[in-house]
Amino acid sequence: MEQNTSHSDNGFFDKFGGKYVAEVLRRPLDELEIAFTDAMKDNDFLEELDLIRRDYIGRETPLYFAPTATKLLGGAQIYIKLEGLANTGAHKINNAIGQCLLAKRMGKKRIIAETGAGQHGLATAAACAKLGLDCTIYMGEVDVRRQQPNVAAMELYGARVHPVTSGSRTLKDAVNEAMRDWAANPDTTHYVLGSALGPAPFPDIVREFQSVIGREVKRQAAERGIKIGAMVACVGGGSNSIGFFEPFINEKKPRLIGAEAGGIGPNVGENASRMTGNAARDGIMQGYKSRFLLDEDGQALPTRSISAGLDYCGIGPQLAALGKKGRVEFTSVLDRDALDAVKFFARNEGILFALESAHAGAAAIKIAREIPSDQAIIINMSGRGDKDVFITSPVFRPNEWLDFLHAEIERLEGGTDIHEAKIMGGKK
Ligand SMILES: *Cc1c(COP(=O)(O)O)cnc(C)c1O
Repeated sequence: MEQNTSHSDNGFFDKFGGKYVAEVLRRPLDELEIAFTDAMKDNDFLEELDLIRRDYIGRETPLYFAPTATKLLGGAQIYIKLEGLANTGAHKINNAIGQCLLAKRMGKKRIIAETGAGQHGLATAAACAKLGLDCTIYMGEVDVRRQQPNVAAMELYGARVHPVTSGSRTLKDAVNEAMRDWAANPDTTHYVLGSALGPAPFPDIVREFQSVIGREVKRQAAERGIKIGAMVACVGGGSNSIGFFEPFINEKKPRLIGAEAGGIGPNVGENASRMTGNAARDGIMQGYKSRFLLDEDGQALPTRSISAGLDYCGIGPQLAALGKKGRVEFTSVLDRDALDAVKFFARNEGILFALESAHAGAAAIKIAREIPSDQAIIINMSGRGDKDVFITSPVFRPNEWLDFLHAEIERLEGGTDIHEAKIMGGKK
């Protein structure tokens, strides 16, 4: 893997990472590692991946100069990597397609994945539809309820969404259930993990498939003579940020900045700040060692963020190591600052950030004056904000939104649409 300069040392990034799993998962993880290493040296595989990236995902994505933001912020030149223009609306498709293609090469016809907010489930369902693979998505029952639009989309792509009823019935439990399924069916099934975390070799695999973002940025900046002062990305599990940073990790510059969810404040339960928060500790969970929000007994603490994609108690091990070393700086962005950033870029640049990505936007707004005007800040817009209309509307236009919902319920309960749905063979 000559293009990748930041590969783990036998699954470890300094003291983080590893493969802390039950015996039954060792063989599938080892086989996956061998298959992945092989595939990355196979020109046929890499060429097929490149073609799918171009024609299906829509790569390369633009590096957009934001003239109004640059003028208003009064410091660095502001550039935005428009990853949200990728098919399905976010960076997650880069990893989903890569892993599904790898599974196909391994002769596996069945794909499983976990999802929390639904974005990774959606990308995986789309990748399976495109590549002709059977797809089951594990999703906590609580998340199934609150993320209905994404559940509907996954089903449209032909995936089965399996509600998980154990534990807190959210993402953590969906991961456990997917691991269990994989351990029981390793010969037929590949588990597409959704971020740059989990047991080795997943952090290396996910970073590799996402590093297409950073490699494009490096080439685009070089072609246009852009001098990069800082790169900013939001950090949930860490896949868009590590892929965006990858080609720069072993260089001294530019500054690499990760924006975590600051939620509504600094107290336990109010945020998801694994690097900058009060309750952040080293720990081992779900197969890997990293920084987590844990209580004294090592149990996961509740987290909070307006952006579902950043609302997770763990961070990828490579980012934890890079944070400790100081190569990646971390900052925490409050919900309200992320909402302001959504408005700022929508009004001034005509670009609608996903709430997750708006954390990176807000961090860039904060530091724009620290960077000289002959240098650029590049923001990774990991996703577009169309998906967030159910969250932003109640904040930006609460009364109108409530009226709309009441009217919709009335229309659906009393109106002719239900009869039409029945004629069409719909359930309800
Ligand atoms: C899922 C998601 C994230 C967070 O996940 P990472 O693995 O940290 O990238 C960020 N942005 C968007 C748009 C997402 O869907």
